[in-house]
Amino acid sequence: MNYQPAKPALIDPHGRAIRYLRVSVTDRCDLRCVYCMSEDMTFLPKKDLLSLEELDRVCSAFVAQGVRKLRITGGEPLVRRNVMGLFDSLGRHLKSGALEELTLTTNGTRLTAFAEQLKSAGVKRVNISLDSLDPGRFKTITRWGNHAEVMDGIRAAKAAGLHVKINTVAMRGVNEDELGDLVAWCGSEGFDLVFIETMPMGDIDGDRTSQYFPLSMVRADLEQRFTLDPIADNTGGPARYTRCAETGGRVGFITPMTHNFCESCNRVRLTCTGTLYMCLGQEDAADLRTPMRASATDELLTEAIKEAIGRKPKGHDFIIDRRHNRPAVSRHMSVTGG
Ligand code: SAM
Ligand code: SF4
Repeated sequence: MNYQPAKPALIDPHGRAIRYLRVSVTDRCDLRCVYCMSEDMTFLPKKDLLSLEELDRVCSAFVAQGVRKLRITGGEPLVRRNVMGLFDSLGRHLKSGALEELTLTTNGTRLTAFAEQLKSAGVKRVNISLDSLDPGRFKTITRWGNHAEVMDGIRAAKAAGLHVKINTVAMRGVNEDELGDLVAWCGSEGFDLVFIETMPMGDIDGDRTSQYFPLSMVRADLEQRFTLDPIADNTGGPARYTRCAETGGRVGFITPMTHNFCESCNRVRLTCTGTLYMCLGQEDAADLRTPMRASATDELLTEAIKEAIGRKPKGHDFIIDRRHNRPAVSRHMSVTGG
């Protein structure tokens, strides 16, 4: 990569430099994880989606405003047709040095086909979601998933030389008894592991309060078996990391519910229809599609981005509403991509 000093950043009203854009390229998915979606989802009509060229244009406008890290997500990003074309074209910002990192979050089902191409596009790290090592349980959690396919995908990513981080949603009574095995397995494979708490986003079929498992308890359980030493590593995300003395691997915890992770938030999220959410846990949003389509040049788009960042809230208001069992934020995680 050519070294380029970072461009001046977009600064929000709370003094935080916005260097990180997460982009959901589709709301569709080939799985139906119980905490994320209901089985019978209504997806956006395809005509409402930004084209891949438009997604490139918005991402590039953010890069021109000092964004250094792009994460492609979804829904499942690898089910979007020709998505590799987007990775290839965004790769030019890595080559120029304007962008530090291009990465993705995936459920892994299509990595066997795409791992090599991702690597060629300049992707170095990939986050892969895996909530269980047991095929039957994996099926129960994802409803439609094929465990072997995902494990093959994970192996393909490793073989392609991608650095793998596993994301695991910790769920009480669902996978709580195998979280230690996941720590051991990731350690032996050389993968980072990050545990996530269930967040109250979007209607799902089940009872969310019964799944909620505070990571403070997960960590206390794990510490019966492992020594987890806090480390200062910061990968630019909200995870707090530890080093597992027994495996040598990194184990992180993202605790949006029990810990206020907002103070260092450097990110905003774009949906596949061009709506920008300034906070995962708030409804306020900005439409970037209209200003982008209104002109062939980027002045209106850039103005809209600046105006939106000027409204970034200080933090989220997540709470699991136990009386009404209602999501605190009505949109699903698959809309904003987590
Ligand atoms: N389909 C891809 C995947 O599963 O990795 C990318 C999108 S998915 C929405 C991104 C991450 O959000 C996944 O790690 C998933 O486990 C997590 N997630 C989805 N819904 C969630 C919820 N309600 N609470 C916490 N994490 C959630
Ligand atoms: Fe799909 Fe990812 Fe949501 Fe699971 S968590 S349903 S894989 S978008």
